[in-house]
Amino acid sequence: MTCPYCNQTISRNINICPHCQAPLNKSNWVKLVTVFPPNDTVLESMLRGCGIPVIIERAEVPQFPITIGPLAESKLLVPAERLQEARQLIETQLEIEE
Ligand SMILES: [Zn+2]
Repeated sequence: MTCPYCNQTISRNINICPHCQAPLNKSNWVKLVTVFPPNDTVLESMLRGCGIPVIIERAEVPQFPITIGPLAESKLLVPAERLQEARQLIETQLEIEE
């Protein structure tokens, strides 16, 4: 099977993807924050470095494959049970405007 989050091949009967740490037995992902590049990848690597799985969901505008500014915003998703922890981590990292 392949991981639905990072599309890497993974073995069956495991609960956590070894590539992106996504929990495979739950689909309980919640929005952590909406940010703009390059903060999305900064936060992603920071959260992953702390052991929290992250999915980046980028707003794609079909007629503008390369988006700039507000069109290119990214949502960071984390498992619901890690939301509190993730929120505290990003608050210490950046000031986020919602
Ligand atoms: Zn994965």
